[in-house]
Amino acid sequence: MLNIYPVYALKDNYIWIIHNQNYAVVVDPGIASPVIEYLELKKLRLSAILNTHHHADHTGGNKELLQSYAVPVYGPRNEFILSMTHPVSEGDQINLQEISLNLAVLDTPGHTRGHIAYFASNPINIVFCGDTLFSCGCGRIFEGTPQQMYQSLQKLSQLPDDTLIYCAHEYTLNNILFAKIVDPENVELIEREITAQKLRHKNIPTIPTPLSLEKKTNPFLRCTQPEIITHVQNNSANFPADPISVFAALRQSKNNF
Ligand code: ZN
Ligand code: FE
Repeated sequence: MLNIYPVYALKDNYIWIIHNQNYAVVVDPGIASPVIEYLELKKLRLSAILNTHHHADHTGGNKELLQSYAVPVYGPRNEFILSMTHPVSEGDQINLQEISLNLAVLDTPGHTRGHIAYFASNPINIVFCGDTLFSCGCGRIFEGTPQQMYQSLQKLSQLPDDTLIYCAHEYTLNNILFAKIVDPENVELIEREITAQKLRHKNIPTIPTPLSLEKKTNPFLRCTQPEIITHVQNNSANFPADPISVFAALRQSKNNF
């Protein structure tokens, strides 16, 4: 049995610990101490670290973890991460034998230049997508272009509909507030807000979410929907119509939200 446990860390990060009875793999350890605590509590041996991109809130715990556990560190081939031992990019497969999990690497640039995601299709469809696709939102474009980010989101949205999205931040409620401005008539979005509010009141993560729900409610995956295009055009001087321009305008207004 595979468990995927969220360690809530720093301001609003999720560090994902994928584990069976004996071994664990950690995704984006921004800080080491709560990870070590969980590993010791559950008597787990760490067998690998996976990083999606170089930002400190995703890699800051690597060094301390490596002092306790000598494990490989997988990360984006096109980024500099000091402790990385196994640089990977799209087309690479990672066989995590200790937890019987095979991961395919996807290039998802935009948030950062070399950002990658890790996808598994067995036993279930799951993706660890860092700061690319968020629950009802998407990451900021720090190093890449809107076109790159748009294409990365499109790539993720082509995964199987039941893929569970394990993103790296709890931003759902704030993202829904923005989405409601862009897409006010979307009934599923309103329902999603109620569900998410209930979870957060009980301090339960809203992550993971299925890709099918993202496709219905995440405005950044809905840039070809007439209602989204109309909203963006009504709020823009240059009347964007193509999906990438609509996406860029949406991302820009989210930056100012
Ligand atoms: Zn980041
Ligand atoms: Fe982050």
